[in-house]
Amino acid sequence: MSANAEWQNWSGSVQAQPSRLASPRTEDELATFVRGAAKVRVVGAGHSFMPLCATTGVLLNLAELDSPIEVAADGASAWVPAGWSLKRLTAALWDRGYSLPNQGDINPQSLAGATATGTHGTGVELGSLSTFARAFRLMLADGSIVECSNEQRPELFEAQRLSLGLLGVATRIRVSIMPAYHLEERVERVPFAAAIEQFESVARAHRHAEFFVFPYADEVIMKTLHPVADAGAFKEPSASDETIFRFCCDVTAAAPAVARVLQRQLMRLIRASRRTGPAYRIFPSERTVSFEEMEYEMPRAAGLSTLQEAIAWVRKRKLPVAFPFEFRWVAADDIWLSPFNKGPGASISMHQYSKMEWRNLLAAAEPIFRANGGRPHWAKRHTLTSKDVFALYPMAERFCKVREQVDPAAKFANAHLTELFGIGA
Ligand SMILES: Cc1cc2nc3c(=O)[nH]c(=O)nc-3n(C[C@H](O)[C@H](O)[C@H](O)COP(=O)(O)OP(=O)(O)OC[C@H]3O[C@@H](n4cnc5c(N)ncnc54)[C@H](O)[C@@H]3O)c2cc1C
Repeated sequence: MSANAEWQNWSGSVQAQPSRLASPRTEDELATFVRGAAKVRVVGAGHSFMPLCATTGVLLNLAELDSPIEVAADGASAWVPAGWSLKRLTAALWDRGYSLPNQGDINPQSLAGATATGTHGTGVELGSLSTFARAFRLMLADGSIVECSNEQRPELFEAQRLSLGLLGVATRIRVSIMPAYHLEERVERVPFAAAIEQFESVARAHRHAEFFVFPYADEVIMKTLHPVADAGAFKEPSASDETIFRFCCDVTAAAPAVARVLQRQLMRLIRASRRTGPAYRIFPSERTVSFEEMEYEMPRAAGLSTLQEAIAWVRKRKLPVAFPFEFRWVAADDIWLSPFNKGPGASISMHQYSKMEWRNLLAAAEPIFRANGGRPHWAKRHTLTSKDVFALYPMAERFCKVREQVDPAAKFANAHLTELFGIGA
């Protein structure tokens, strides 16, 4: 525990001076902090780009708040500690013979942080991690504990499924699980035009499909993951890829005009590859080169054309974008604050190297995604106002009513969320 600490997020773009940073080990300790503070936020791995965790009050981390993993008799769900990282959780589930139905690009995030923001992977029929949460054990502002699910306090549950940490502190989550599975990963270079044409068939033929495209390259990196029965030996991904990529980013930062040539050269180094292994080890990649990211969740039918429009926009203005765009599909859901709640989605991520100007770049590109019906990932860079939030999310008012009922003094709000949801206005 430390008083008047400095805190910053993964990319370093959000900094805060909480009055106290603490890692309670029990719910009793947690209750003491929650009762005693006027303002409380919880941080998982701090991987959000938006100031979701920034606070001048108490900042709590639940990584050390351990509790048992309890698998339901039907093997379809398990109560697990909310503050564990996905890395720790998926390894522990694997040891018991289970996997999560899907994961995103990396695994340091806490389960609670991932579900609180609608974190997702890719898959035609696979929803975000928020859709895997079937029940929550939640500490409310007065330090009391409640459970919510479809059956118990269903309104609170609906709001909590994607809550940005505004309703209370999740100490345990009942998540969907499935029998442990192995995956085959295939990576190959595909011409950009062919990727656009073929993505639908590739995505339908594989459990997971996505591609990365540098704005100035003519080819994309297509990645598919598909279940396999016999996995063979697991091979770690090559660390040298990140080293070369970091070098290219540094060169682009120093001499932005080289981006076009450099990205085409870089693509030539990409070799087709195949590896297999336990799902929880194949899903995550290493991301050691720091970036800032904006991600828009598009109606699926508008996904590929919006990506093409965004890339044409970058090229036309000769903008120095050092990182590739990422394109994924995510299933529809019915969560009040989910950007996928209007139908199947296509997710477009636009990244920029942390050492280069990103704020104006991302904000200038944002209207392209908005004009095509997109809604942003809550944890990634966006410039939505409170007016936008209520226009884009018909259920936001109901969410705010639930929030007002469980936390009338807005103990769990911070400046960013107060503004975004018009709290106290
Ligand atoms: C390198 C990198 C790769 C990424 N890849 C993906 C990806 O593939 N797909 C994707 O969708 N997103 C991705 N993200 C975004 C990331 O998944 C989200 O920002 C996620 O919320 C991070 O989890 P966290 O544990 O770091 O949460 P934090 O950023 O620490 O917190 C996020 C929110 O959860 C709340 N919260 C955390 N714990 C609790 C709790 N116990 N109770 C109540 N509220 C809580 C916080 O208050 C905050 O509002 C990526 C981010 C980075 C930096």
